Amino acid sequence: MASRELLIEALQLVVGADHVLTGDAARGFEVDWTRRFGGPCLAVVRPWNTEQASLVLAACSSAGVAVVPQGGNTGLVGGGVPSQSAAPPVIISTTRMKELGAVDQLAGQVTVGAGATLGDVQRHATAAGWYYGVDLAARDTATIGGTIATNAGGIRVIAHGMTRVQLTGIEAVLADGSVISHLAGLAKDNTGFDLAGLLCGSEGTLALITGVRLRLVRPPSQSTLAMVGVDSYEEALKLMASTRNKSTVLAAECVDAGGMELVCKVADLPWPLERRHALVVLLEVEDGGHASGLPLDDDDDAVVAVDASSRARLWEYRERQSEAFSSLGIVHKLDVSVPLARLAAFAEALPQVLNAQSDISSFGVFGHLGDGNLHVEIAGPAPEDMRADRAVLELVAAHGGSISAEHGIGRAKAADLELSRTPSEISLMRAMKHAWDPGGVMNPGVIFG
Ligand code: FAD
Repeated sequence: MASRELLIEALQLVVGADHVLTGDAARGFEVDWTRRFGGPCLAVVRPWNTEQASLVLAACSSAGVAVVPQGGNTGLVGGGVPSQSAAPPVIISTTRMKELGAVDQLAGQVTVGAGATLGDVQRHATAAGWYYGVDLAARDTATIGGTIATNAGGIRVIAHGMTRVQLTGIEAVLADGSVISHLAGLAKDNTGFDLAGLLCGSEGTLALITGVRLRLVRPPSQSTLAMVGVDSYEEALKLMASTRNKSTVLAAECVDAGGMELVCKVADLPWPLERRHALVVLLEVEDGGHASGLPLDDDDDAVVAVDASSRARLWEYRERQSEAFSSLGIVHKLDVSVPLARLAAFAEALPQVLNAQSDISSFGVFGHLGDGNLHVEIAGPAPEDMRADRAVLELVAAHGGSISAEHGIGRAKAADLELSRTPSEISLMRAMKHAWDPGGVMNPGVIFG
């Protein structure tokens, strides 16, 4: 029997035949959310727990077959799907590992399975009187394991920090099937290297994360959300800074004029302000819902939401941006950050750089203003044409920024890593990858190309 069939039989014995998908049943797992990345797999395997995941990885390693860890498949850089050019790997889907442990009221922590969605974890924490400090628009599909593997950011970074800050313990399976489990979540634990911190942001290249221990925070009190029209990034940043001086800021987001027009059209939303502006800023502050925490005056073109349903309506203009741009076709989605002091200069230079590129039919910018993190959406170039991407990433590097603020490097930016990391850093990262995964089984092609 061919080695492919033998491996599939071995995997079926571990997880059950129903959880080894091939052919048409595997198709949906082979293409990413953007439709820009993807390739064929040998099979999709869906383990139920760490023990099964360990046997799956051991079987793939002994057969010399690569694996691609996949959670909710909402990643935007092609890291959770196979490539066209390599031998078909096994996709390990974590979506059955959904266990939600009891919230530890004393420590303010919870242990959950890697396949629980971010939304599941948020609701679980809220039901126990706590709050999980990470939030993003793909919350009901993205898995907690995926958010750890990408060190996800999102709309609450300004208040609670990136995902890595929330992580207090991890369980993971290495390429050869061995398991590391460090889930006590001790507040103090200086016993050598921080392996959980290292796995956070490793994009499936070091190990398969199967369980995580998370720090929770006290729920914020009632908040006010305002959408304010401004004429420039400079004005937006001034508004954010004066808001921060007055209140605890829970979110500070922005959408440019093109993104606002597009989302109104695609999502059939009414124009929310009196006038058109170069930029719209969304500011959420913790102020007991009294609308007293924002430094707005009568001249500002603003709309303010204090109750949950009107807040949700305003958030739609920001949260549906990615989906709105995807309606234009297979869009190049860049995720960059620059120091706040350079943000206005970067944003001003960006249109010039993009207008100099041929094949671009339109572009738009939205993002996490408070973190200096902009998403640049470019429509027009063919999926594999990287010229516009490269021009933007070079501009980012020239402004002292990062070519990946929160989505990761994945396959999309592997060739651009040297714009943000030095040769010494990259060779150290390669050596670490080799130490964890000497056979190159874990997500080859991701981060390092
Ligand atoms: P996948 O897409 O399945 O995988 C992403 C990467 O993690 C891959 O490299 C994969 O191999 C690896 N991986 C997944 N699970 C595991 C595991 N258990 N062990 C090891 N490696 C694993 N991201 C942000 O940071 N901030 C945002 O605001 C944001 N907004 C978004 C809005 C929309 C509408 C969409 C579609 C995406 C958005 N994203 C955002 C991107 C995406 O949701 C995040 O990157 C998320 O963390 C991916 O989780 P996932 O479970 O879908 O991972």
